[in-house]
Amino acid sequence: MPRPIEALIHTDALAHNLARARECAPDARVWAVVKANAYGHGIERAYPGLRGADGFALLDLNEAERLRALDWRGPILLLEGVFEPRDLEICSRLNLWHVVHAEHQIDWLAAHKTHQPHRVFLKMNSGMNRLGFRPAAFRSAWTRLNALPQVDEITLVTHFSDADADRFGVNGIEHQVKAFAEATHDLPGERSLANSAATLRHMQDPRVRSDWVRAGIMSYGGVPDFPEHDGHHWNLRPAMTLRSQLLAMQSLQPGESVGYGSAYVAERAMRIGIVACGYADGYPRHAGSGTPVLVNGVRTATVGRVSMDMLAVDLTAVPAAQVGSEVTLWGEGPRGTRLPIDEVARAAGTIGYELMCALALRVPVSVV
Ligand SMILES: *Cc1c(COP(=O)(O)O)cnc(C)c1O
Repeated sequence: MPRPIEALIHTDALAHNLARARECAPDARVWAVVKANAYGHGIERAYPGLRGADGFALLDLNEAERLRALDWRGPILLLEGVFEPRDLEICSRLNLWHVVHAEHQIDWLAAHKTHQPHRVFLKMNSGMNRLGFRPAAFRSAWTRLNALPQVDEITLVTHFSDADADRFGVNGIEHQVKAFAEATHDLPGERSLANSAATLRHMQDPRVRSDWVRAGIMSYGGVPDFPEHDGHHWNLRPAMTLRSQLLAMQSLQPGESVGYGSAYVAERAMRIGIVACGYADGYPRHAGSGTPVLVNGVRTATVGRVSMDMLAVDLTAVPAAQVGSEVTLWGEGPRGTRLPIDEVARAAGTIGYELMCALALRVPVSVV
């Protein structure tokens, strides 16, 4: 028998979450964002659940190639655009749409030989200060692009830094929406502004609604504004379950410790279970004692440090637990139980995004 850990990808949950993006933005088309190998779910494995999207947004040419190999004929968008001039040849060959965020990418396009003009997404840096043209430089970039025979339609795009929360005490997107609207009000073309957080939180603002939303984390059932809201509030379902089993049990006496560094010391006699899951599986090592976990669907908590291949859990609340009992690290447990990945992430001082993306290669994954 292989080591009992496994991950499940829930096709129905992906489809449900995508439908939620459509419900939030009924007038927009939806990009399913599948960068980082579909946030760790696997492009090929996520595809059956997400194929109802209007397009797929990603970063790597090799991921675009994999989507075309799945026979996806619809739009594919490179969110960072091309990295070198010859990437444009692949864009021409695979019909990829691409972001243009800087002058050098316009130079490359101007020198590119193609019979098929490219659909491009011109990116404004409206305040995130990672990629894009500043509002004052946006129009001249647009004018330059628009004059190129290599360019077909130009969509106007920007990305929010604070769509999940307030910023300095006010609505976190207002300053960016304002900058974008002012600099683009008389430019033609479609618009794309919203990520998951803006799709969930800001669709009442007509300036945000636009033509395309970019649904990343919400497609996978992660909650961008956890703990202010949870998956129940937004009606999102976990698309990934990580589960394992108890390998062994130990009875601790008061004063005895568990695992490396003796980071947990029993205050009373207690039974603990040893789970076949560690940081080499993608479980966060920074999740300290008290991180939630389900054993046989019963909520309990980890004790001690996470090691490479194992972690320990308190079995006080689960007296019937035995070797082979099911342990849910995150996602769907038995009998309709659930442990949000966001809760585990929070206990480890991170976000659900990071845990999904870090699912280790050694964990076998099945699509259900
Ligand atoms: C990753 C990414 C998204 C998706 O963000 P979520 O918070 O996961 O919805 C949207 N737009 C761009 C440009 C991105 O890089």
